[in-house]
Amino acid sequence: MNIYPIFTRRKSTVCHVGTLTIGGEAPIRVQTMANTSTNDIDASVEQAKRCAYAGAELLRYTTQGMREVESVAQIHAQLRSEGITLPLVADIHFRSDVADAAAAVVEKVRINPGNYANRPDEIDERFTRLLTICRTHHTALRIGVNHGSLSKRMMDQYGDTPEGMVASCMEFLRIAVREHFSDIVLSVKSSNTRVMVETVRLLVKTMDAEGMAFPLHLGVTEAGEGEDGRIKSAVGIGALLADGIGDTVRISLSEEPEAEVPVAQALIRWFTDPLSPRYHDLTLSVDNNTVRFADNESDWSLFQLHAAAECGRLLWDNHATEIILSNPHFTDEQLTRLASDILQAARVRMYKTEFISCPGCGRTMFNLQKTVADIKRELTDTIGNSGLKIAVMGCIVNGPGEMADADYGYVGAGVDRISLYRGKQCVLKNIPQEEAVEQLLKLIEQDKQHE
Ligand code: SF4
Repeated sequence: MNIYPIFTRRKSTVCHVGTLTIGGEAPIRVQTMANTSTNDIDASVEQAKRCAYAGAELLRYTTQGMREVESVAQIHAQLRSEGITLPLVADIHFRSDVADAAAAVVEKVRINPGNYANRPDEIDERFTRLLTICRTHHTALRIGVNHGSLSKRMMDQYGDTPEGMVASCMEFLRIAVREHFSDIVLSVKSSNTRVMVETVRLLVKTMDAEGMAFPLHLGVTEAGEGEDGRIKSAVGIGALLADGIGDTVRISLSEEPEAEVPVAQALIRWFTDPLSPRYHDLTLSVDNNTVRFADNESDWSLFQLHAAAECGRLLWDNHATEIILSNPHFTDEQLTRLASDILQAARVRMYKTEFISCPGCGRTMFNLQKTVADIKRELTDTIGNSGLKIAVMGCIVNGPGEMADADYGYVGAGVDRISLYRGKQCVLKNIPQEEAVEQLLKLIEQDKQHE
């Protein structure tokens, strides 16, 4: 079956974020998240400028408490005084009072329904209050649900499933609709690309059934870094963009935030630019359980992104299990390895150790990028292509929940302190960071002996 790609964007309502619009006829926006300490104003302002110059259109800051609200307000004021108009987003977990305060100082607030409040009456009261504050200050909201951080009530009712994530989001949306508040963007993310795509599709279907069309932010959480992080992000986000779904995108990499921007831009261009090779040079087909992707671009990084963006969806939707890639500029070995990487990113076949790592943010108390590189190197040397999933997460607050189905977790527990997890169980608490990689290796080796 030959496929002739088209791009028809889902019609969504418009969300105003300061002077920026998301959804409707607006271009698909690119966003990223700071990894500085929010309280380090100078470093945060400098990083924000680098992100703005790279082309980021929104920048998010972790905002743990009232001190961070003050800091975000200072960062905001400093940027505006220098003529930088980049809208800022406060990322809030656990504290509805902090969300209320942040809504008065930044253009957008992200809340996580999984930890905003538990009982329906509490949600109604707190969220209605937040909507009133947002309306007063012309502040937008993101309802951001993450796989692995649903509320206990949702977990008890649905488990950690796409249905639970969608139900959690819809509970908030129904209140927003009742209150006639429309400056809302939604995200439902997972580090498992298949879960992420299934959940977003289910959310769109559920909203359609209730006459809602809120815009969607797309992202694969804890995608990792380097080629693997880019391929995994492209598999999940590409599948939805190909459906026409998505109004804003973040590529979550364990790298500097400005490095995420060109990846998102390239992915958006592939689908939305009428001059894109997608609509001129591409050969795409599915036959005999095999997805075939051929094009003639000569840039390896772009070829990786484009192939990943197209193949994941075709694998899932056609129950295919193989990929054949063609491009005269690259060797058979390169193309075969990329096909295997895409199959793994789509969770169709595991052939090597998978490293899940969060991008880090103001909650991270250690050098995440160096640690991810060290762990990858050490573990690849010792356990090789084990097929295990190893998570490296910056903080104990969100890390254990969001490392999803990892077999082992290395989680920041405080300044230079690490806790190690086997699945969801913490097995070593608050150990010094310099011992942690060795202890993780020991744990994996011990478990192998007991298999
Ligand atoms: S897991 Fe923690 S440190 Fe990592 S991005 Fe999420 S909140 Fe930040």
